[in-house]
Amino acid sequence: MTVLLMRNTPDPDRLVALAARRCYSARAAGEIEERLSLEEIERLLDFLRQRNHLSPFEHAEFTFSVDGVSRALSHQLVRHRMASYSQESQRYVNYLKVQQLPYVVPPSIADNAEAAAIYARALDVTLAAYRDMVNAGVKPEDARYVFPNAIETKLIFTFNARSLFNFFEQRCCIKAQWEIRNLAFDMLKSVRKVAPLIFKNAGAPCQFATAPYCRENDQECPLYKSMLKRTSENDQQNSGRS
Ligand SMILES: Cc1cc2nc3c(=O)[nH]c(=O)nc-3n(C[C@H](O)[C@H](O)[C@H](O)COP(=O)(O)OP(=O)(O)OC[C@H]3O[C@@H](n4cnc5c(N)ncnc54)[C@H](O)[C@@H]3O)c2cc1C
Repeated sequence: MTVLLMRNTPDPDRLVALAARRCYSARAAGEIEERLSLEEIERLLDFLRQRNHLSPFEHAEFTFSVDGVSRALSHQLVRHRMASYSQESQRYVNYLKVQQLPYVVPPSIADNAEAAAIYARALDVTLAAYRDMVNAGVKPEDARYVFPNAIETKLIFTFNARSLFNFFEQRCCIKAQWEIRNLAFDMLKSVRKVAPLIFKNAGAPCQFATAPYCRENDQECPLYKSMLKRTSENDQQNSGRS
């Protein structure tokens, strides 16, 4: 999987803080921006997150490119409706000349020699069926119906920061499948470089530095247990201080 942050709104931390300040100030936007110190930006962004006033985060957009992911992943990804997508089309890209279908192998299959052989065989049979159908006069766009979830795909997609909070909350969680989870962590790493304050407290909410929580409430999850431990240690430290 190759994940790239292709473009983003310039200076996203400052822009979101400016949009938030706009709500509370009668000054011209330029003047508000001049007065925004880094401390003020951080304070405002923390305030918005704590109060769940999330619409200012919609001004910051992030466009990613991802190659070498499965169609199983892309199906999960496009369920996130608050984003825009462009995906390599199997109607217009045809597979007649390839030696082997480009496909993703889940680690559980790659690590099991017997399963890996079955998997590779099934994909070879699929490619042969596709070619035979096209050679028999079927259009490639119809012959592709034989393709499995494993086949690789490429996408360009754009999320705003608010929608990314929701995406990271769901897909950095241990409950998400390994492939989209890997994608989510790569995306989080790249947006943190350009918007460190917006994404300071983003990811699976059980990992938040302040006020961690878990909507899954799965008490068997190892991360749930470590979250409870951290929360109780923090409570003890805080009660010791007061
Ligand atoms: C671990 C896991 C397992 C899953 N398993 C399944 C499964 O078995 N079957 C399945 O079908 N899906 C499954 N999903 C997908 C899941 O149900 C969501 O469709 C997907 O994660 C997108 O989330 P979303 O709707 O919050 O995101 P977005 O579509 O990006 O929406 C963002 C937010 O906008 C609001 N919103 C968007 N559209 C509407 C609307 N029409 N009306 C009201 N509010 C709206 C909601 O607040 C929503 O949270 C799973 C997801 C995860 C993370």
